[in-house]
Amino acid sequence: SRCLTIDDFEIGRPLGKGKFGNVYLARLKESHFIVALKVLFKSQLEKEGLEHQLRREIEIQSHLQHPNILRLYNYFHDAHRVYLILEYAPRGELYKELQKSHTLDEQRTATIMEELADALTYCHENKVIHRDIKPENLLLGFRGEVKIADFGWSVHTPSLRRKTMCGTLDYLPPEMIEGRTYNEKVDLWCIGVLCYELLVGNPPFESTSYSETYRRILKVDLRFPPSIPLGAQDLIGKLLRYQPSERLPLAHILQHSWVRAHSRRVLPPSTQMAS
Ligand code: ATP
Ligand code: MG
Repeated sequence: SRCLTIDDFEIGRPLGKGKFGNVYLARLKESHFIVALKVLFKSQLEKEGLEHQLRREIEIQSHLQHPNILRLYNYFHDAHRVYLILEYAPRGELYKELQKSHTLDEQRTATIMEELADALTYCHENKVIHRDIKPENLLLGFRGEVKIADFGWSVHTPSLRRKTMCGTLDYLPPEMIEGRTYNEKVDLWCIGVLCYELLVGNPPFESTSYSETYRRILKVDLRFPPSIPLGAQDLIGKLLRYQPSERLPLAHILQHSWVRAHSRRVLPPSTQMAS
């Protein structure tokens, strides 16, 4: 198939602003296929030295095909911009839904846990570690199903590379805080933190200072409001373990009694971009 250009698309409303460009709703003129077009400026990418990270993000995400992973269909570039053709997630960010409703109920949370456990099983089978699961990086499909986005921090194999971390520390596992080698079990920690935040309304180790958050994570200082169902407490407690090897494996999350009792997962029909 020939190369795409911006002239192949009708551009619609902006879906969001990113650090390096904007995301627009767009439609392929020929097939009327709806996508999200992420536009990145080469000058900014170069200034921040992020070409390698973007290449890796494209390389990884374009090869992953799973109902709960945001598809990266293709990409192209012109003199000044790089364009990523992404699956459109009609219900936007999980982060915004959480802001609006403060907490999610058991059914919604258990469904998201099943979806994430299944998607991460697929990632790990393909030797991909996401490392950055959090509400800001989870988009929502037509039926509210989760779509893992943002593979900017993901890696193909365990690495010791230390990056300058910015933003929240709330989802960082102990081994990453301590700069030790880590493996795919970092993702188990992150979905444990996520499960807590969805049910409680704030992440488990949240504190007023970075150093206090670090301290609480390393101690695994985990406390539950009494309103949190015991089945969910059991699951979260089995994921938030200091020792990566002790964390509940993904296959066991799918079988966990609380997940089985409350998940209402439905699989969307698969869609393809004809081009
Ligand atoms: P990064 O998180 O890699 O730094 P960013 O946050 O700068 O990137 P994105 O998260 O890719 O940029 O996109 C910005 C916003 O656009 C998102 O917060 C989201 O609301 C919206 N958006 C991005 N991709 C999609 C999509 N495929 N479907 C619907 N909305 C999207
Ligand atoms: Mg983002």
